[in-house]
Amino acid sequence: MTDAILSERLRPLIRQDIQSMQAYAVQDAAGLVKLDAMENPFTLPPPLQAELGRRLGALALNRYPGPRLDDLREALVRHANLPEGCALMLGNGSDELISLLAMACDVPGAAILAPVPGFVMYAMSAQLQGLRFIGVDLRPDFQLDEAAMLNAIERERPSIIYLAYPNNPTAGLWDDAVIERIVRAAPGLVVIDEAYQPFSSRSYIDRLASHPHVLLMRTLSKFGLAGVRIGYLAGAQPLIAEIDKVRPPYNVSVLNAEAALFALEHADVYEAQAALLREQRAGLMRSLAELPGVQPWPSDANMILVRVPDAARAFAGMKQRGVLVKNVSKMHSLLVNCLRLTVGTPEENARMLQALQASL
Ligand code: PMP
Repeated sequence: MTDAILSERLRPLIRQDIQSMQAYAVQDAAGLVKLDAMENPFTLPPPLQAELGRRLGALALNRYPGPRLDDLREALVRHANLPEGCALMLGNGSDELISLLAMACDVPGAAILAPVPGFVMYAMSAQLQGLRFIGVDLRPDFQLDEAAMLNAIERERPSIIYLAYPNNPTAGLWDDAVIERIVRAAPGLVVIDEAYQPFSSRSYIDRLASHPHVLLMRTLSKFGLAGVRIGYLAGAQPLIAEIDKVRPPYNVSVLNAEAALFALEHADVYEAQAALLREQRAGLMRSLAELPGVQPWPSDANMILVRVPDAARAFAGMKQRGVLVKNVSKMHSLLVNCLRLTVGTPEENARMLQALQASL
């Protein structure tokens, strides 16, 4: 189909604001050390891979997903040790859950509020659903600006507040007392997004049951299954039951569910990988802090945010040396000259450090 036909006949069918958006860009990492997307760099040991292959090969792919999804939900409830009375719904990654939440809360005038810089999908879900997005700037030390958050909550009365804990791309946790005051001030839902939980020293999970308007969102992506696409949202049963009505009936495939169940049966393998990555993170922090002109921020995730003298130059130099990281400088004025480095294998991290040092 030519572009001319799209312009004349079909373009008016697509919403104006969508036409002016950029599609979510995934960088081509072919031949590069891929440290741009907080993936777990390790795979399963070959014997487990072969066993998983047999399990997937035996599935009835001619049938729609069925009771295996109940097994997966139960396995996740056990794995996360969810408190009594909490229910859990599944998403095709937590990205899908963020979209479903915006859909479920699309009442006239509704707003979504989140600290910025933060995970881009919160703002994107609001825009796509036609809701207002209120971004509240972090302080320059990348902590929550409590007064600004509380003022914005009071003024805007948001339907959803997102707190990524730890945050992406700044990688740190929030002060728990500040979270508590935000939760108490919230007129609507608060979603604590624990995508980076495998690498974090703290979790909100023990406080979940005390607040019926708080939801906990997690994903298996950072655990080691980014390609599988399984996220979940947990919270008070009646609230989850309402949001679950928006979910497309077969959003999680039989293949995704079986791969996730297999991973949970072998959780010890993934937990050992996460432990190794946490150790690697500690080593990287020390090495980064010694590089002249490089400022790393404390991390509770499998990424480290650093400020360098010239991020564009460092990014290009690192790529030329075969290492792909994320240049987040243009995301927000607070992130000027910042790069986000995913923690990789020991070999990848050594290459990344060398490439960074040579590119400053
Ligand atoms: N939440 C946060 C804070 C993230 O950084 C990401 C992805 N990087 C996600 C959610 C989405 O994760 P997924 O869709 O892979 O489950």
